Amino acid sequence: MEPKLSDYKTEVHNDWCPGCGDFGIVSAIQMALTEMKIPRHKAAIFSGIGCSGKTSHFINVFGIHTLHGRVLTFAQGAKLANPEMTIVVAGGDGDGLGIGAGHFVAAGRRNVDMTYIIFNNAVYGLTKGQASPTLQLGLKTKSLPQPNVNQSVNPIGLAIASGFTFVGRGYSYDVRQLKDLIIAAVKHKGLAFLDVLQPCPAYNDINTRDWFAGLGNIDQTTRKSQPRIYKLEDTGYDPVVNYGSEEEVNEKLTQALIKANEWDAKIPTGIFYQNELIAPYEQRIADRIPNYLENPPAGQPISSGGKPITDISKILDSLEV
Ligand code: SF4
Repeated sequence: MEPKLSDYKTEVHNDWCPGCGDFGIVSAIQMALTEMKIPRHKAAIFSGIGCSGKTSHFINVFGIHTLHGRVLTFAQGAKLANPEMTIVVAGGDGDGLGIGAGHFVAAGRRNVDMTYIIFNNAVYGLTKGQASPTLQLGLKTKSLPQPNVNQSVNPIGLAIASGFTFVGRGYSYDVRQLKDLIIAAVKHKGLAFLDVLQPCPAYNDINTRDWFAGLGNIDQTTRKSQPRIYKLEDTGYDPVVNYGSEEEVNEKLTQALIKANEWDAKIPTGIFYQNELIAPYEQRIADRIPNYLENPPAGQPISSGGKPITDISKILDSLEV
């Protein structure tokens, strides 16, 4: 029987704040899994630490709530052990771009076939609203005693520079577009990154839902406010690398970086860059270990007749002091 949307929902109590953008992201992930008809036992959600960390509790597939900044390491290990699994990774901007920044860059170099979604609200919501790596220099959200003294990280630019082969951005209150982006990211052969703008009504009183909708963004010609968010696909933007020539790749990377730097009056969403011509990490392993994909670690027997087939006594003996 085909899975239904309700199959991916859990009964776990949700204590996110009313109006939090996190709700839209969880809904979009559930809708995407439903539309792709991915069996629950073939999907796993890994989450880091922060408000977004609870995501793995709210989606009824395998759920693994991991350590602060380390979520990508767990997820990559699981995918390499069992390449058949659909792996979605969820984490906050502080989790992934602060303490986890080194793993973010290393993951980009590997290009393991999975999807990483950052819930980007520019604050550490779970710990009462400190400035996260994506809060812009000089902004003073309501929890800060002084304006932010650090420059912000550009998640899209960092993902492109790190080697992610699919880079996109969604908005948590546009669930339909976000669902489509998640489907495209999961179908992508390689590591996909989605930067999801996620208003935190509790602690970020600057980048609010009204702000994204255009509050204070006055068009100088019409004198009317205009939405900040727009969709790249509505502009004829083409993110896909088709041939892989140096000239084409440079052109696609350059246009993506230019779009990554758009902010404030106009904020692009959609797919910025996609290149499936770079081999995923799994394929690189298979090129060295020919039967890796047919016989991955998770598929290998570990016991026979109820007894482990591996004798580790020699290793234990060698550790004796
Ligand atoms: Fe959402 Fe912010 Fe509340 Fe966390 S603190 S649940 S991010 S609104």
